[in-house]
Amino acid sequence: MTAPEGEVARNLDAVRARIDAAARACGRAPGEVTLVAVSKLQPAALIRAAYAHGQRDFGENYVQELTRKRDELADLADLRWHLIGHLQSNKAKHVAGFVHLAHAIDDARTGAELGRRAVAAGRAVEVLAQVNVGGEAQKSGCEPDALPALLDALAGTPGLALRGLMTVPPHTEDPAGALPYFEALRALRDANGGAARLPALSMGMTHDIEYAVRAGATLVRVGTAIFGARA
Ligand SMILES: *Cc1c(COP(=O)(O)O)cnc(C)c1O
Repeated sequence: MTAPEGEVARNLDAVRARIDAAARACGRAPGEVTLVAVSKLQPAALIRAAYAHGQRDFGENYVQELTRKRDELADLADLRWHLIGHLQSNKAKHVAGFVHLAHAIDDARTGAELGRRAVAAGRAVEVLAQVNVGGEAQKSGCEPDALPALLDALAGTPGLALRGLMTVPPHTEDPAGALPYFEALRALRDANGGAARLPALSMGMTHDIEYAVRAGATLVRVGTAIFGARA
């Protein structure tokens, strides 16, 4: 069930407390972890409720839904939109003008199109390379072996600012099952230029925030714990 507007503020506080506790438990500063509130399939009214409670970073999966909500919420000028879903190159033109961070770029061609459109819009789009660390056939993300070439391509694309890596691990009932995949993403970061080149690690959702923070997440993407179950 979708959370009523009043519950969103309480839920946000609870998620922020989870992040802060997980950070302290491993000696990290809570401020190193940005909470991206995943609002896909949730009404704009709940985004407003979260914004009113201080939340500024919101994540959407689908380009059409993202552009619609962006228009509906255009009065919230400092809201930052994150595209966390897979981007098809033919949709890049719809988001290049405004998206703050594209989390799920997994091929150079889409990156090139996004960069070209961003240049045309007079800006740069920050991007993360999505990696399929679990090697699941049905999942988006580049294979770890292909990552060095993808990173070189993205880093060399005008209009893109390469920031780091993102992953969605295979689902496991026990959230601890995600930890090896999160650690694998961090190891890929360390093997491909480290935090100097790739400062951002986007990993962790409602179910496994604590393990992601422990493994070094700088962005966690949380939907259900803030907005309730999706329709
Ligand atoms: C939906 C989604 C999330 C949020 O998942 P919750 O379990 O609701 O927190 C995070 N990341 C991606 C890529 C998603 O598609």
